[in-house]
Amino acid sequence: MLKYPMVYDIHEECGIFGIYGHPEAANLTYLGLYALQHRGQEGAGICSSDGRQLFLEKSMGLVADIFNEKRLRRLPGYIAIGHNRYSTAGSSALKNVQPIVANFALGSLAIAHNGNLVTAIDLRTSLEAEGAIFQSSSDSEVIVHLIAHSKGDDFYERVTHTIKQISGSFSLLILREKELIAIRDPFGVRPLSLGVKDGAYVVASETCAFDLIGATYIRDIEPGEVLIINENGLKSLKIFNSQRKAFCIFELIYFSRPDSNIFGGLNVNEMRKEFGRQLAREFHIEADLVIPVPDSGVPAAIGYSEVSHIPFDFGLIRNHYIGRTFIEPRENIRHFGVKIKLNPVKKLLEGKRLIVIDDSIVRGTTSKKIVKMLKEGGGAKEIHLKISSPPNISPCYYGIDTPTRRELIASTHLIEEIRKYVTADSLSYLSLEGLKKIVPNSHNFCTACFDGDYPISFPGEHLNQMEFLFR
Ligand code: AMP
Repeated sequence: MLKYPMVYDIHEECGIFGIYGHPEAANLTYLGLYALQHRGQEGAGICSSDGRQLFLEKSMGLVADIFNEKRLRRLPGYIAIGHNRYSTAGSSALKNVQPIVANFALGSLAIAHNGNLVTAIDLRTSLEAEGAIFQSSSDSEVIVHLIAHSKGDDFYERVTHTIKQISGSFSLLILREKELIAIRDPFGVRPLSLGVKDGAYVVASETCAFDLIGATYIRDIEPGEVLIINENGLKSLKIFNSQRKAFCIFELIYFSRPDSNIFGGLNVNEMRKEFGRQLAREFHIEADLVIPVPDSGVPAAIGYSEVSHIPFDFGLIRNHYIGRTFIEPRENIRHFGVKIKLNPVKKLLEGKRLIVIDDSIVRGTTSKKIVKMLKEGGGAKEIHLKISSPPNISPCYYGIDTPTRRELIASTHLIEEIRKYVTADSLSYLSLEGLKKIVPNSHNFCTACFDGDYPISFPGEHLNQMEFLFR
């Protein structure tokens, strides 16, 4: 099994939110994190500043369970940043929940990071050799140490120096006593948007957070931009020469909320509907009903139904009071999860030929259980499974939680073998060409999960590529 790239704790799929210049900074950050809960459900934290000192509250759990009025009152001030954390097995620990706060020569700072630093191990090893003592196993802490270790009295120089040393994906918020700094990696892998609310600047992973607090979207933080927000207003530093961009295609397919507009204003719901329309254009099959795997398959199923003229309905009902089962760190819970999460509507499905739409197949576990559920519990006659993205063949090293290549079913199996495994009557995936045709300026996107073309190099990449070639 390939061991590269090894990071201590991959910071996947987190949600970040920041606000500068509002008397209700912590309360609004709480709401922002609430809207971004889908990006991470293991733990959350908020750090605020009253201009003199930083205040931090963080815990394991969901945003609404962690924060109450009493706790939010312990977060005074007009600036705040917040973080929703997602983690994989073995790394669920409070010490890894962000923001990470540290004191250094120039004062205090807190950071909230969404993304994954692919060179974290090497950087950490050399920092430790220089005497740095790490509090957590998180790759993000490397950033704090790099800033602290960097020489010079000018904080912005230290930040510039730091982000030139790190590699990977990073949408990053830094809070200091009197300012907020928003940074996006030069490839722009993870989304990050700037908005305004009552004259206060807000920054969030997705625009759905702006909608909840009534903020107006201004623009995206540009790839490679360092945006300083303080009493002088906005100041933008462009640190990197423009390289190729690598927006994460999987944000559009699965990860972001459909009501968000990301990567320069692409509406996620509309994109997903279009994926479904394209899927219908590519693969037509006679059937009685199109049903989505809720919630992620809903927009694509609507699109598929529109183009195929096969009626759409909700044949699987989702219990909304449990978390995303995939996110459960323990394997046994995940397996049980599909059943507690979804239930078929027998009256609707009995005897029908179904087109079932989901956004992706990772290990194949979910699809297999769903097909079984629709046939046995729902009484469906035929199941034609259609996936609104191409086969997921390569692990993501830039912040989407994917298992090892070996566990990615499409990496090791042909489509017909997957069909047999999930016991569907037919199985088709959206083609990569079809996907690229739909996404505007698709050359600006990272599609490594579908084609193994990794835009940001990382340790062990060549081994990975060899495995890809000879798989
Ligand atoms: P699997 O059972 O491993 O094939 O997982 C497939 C299901 O997980 C699909 O229904 C997807 O909507 C969902 N999914 C795909 N990628 C992810 C991810 N990175 N995190 C959480 N859920 C995911």
